[in-house]
Amino acid sequence: MRELTDLEKKLRRTDREEQLKPCPFCGEKPLYFSSDFILEIECPTCDYVRNFPPFLGQKKTDVLVGTDGYDLYYNASAEEDAVNAWNQRIA
Ligand SMILES: [Zn+2]
Repeated sequence: MRELTDLEKKLRRTDREEQLKPCPFCGEKPLYFSSDFILEIECPTCDYVRNFPPFLGQKKTDVLVGTDGYDLYYNASAEEDAVNAWNQRIA
């Protein structure tokens, strides 16, 4: 497994990783990274990466949190949605 950067170490969520099915391509354990603006699941073995809508973004939800140049929404179920999508292999 490659070395994680300091930022990746900070964003890594091992509790979420326990909920993830293995990588669909190589079967290894994926890594889960999350912040307000980043939600990424990555396989460190074959470098497969998937990005999901994070907590804050332009995906429309019921909670509009800012309109500074563009509309920004809060997506409360961002992590559950990402884990479900990864585990169900939904694009
Ligand atoms: Zn893989």
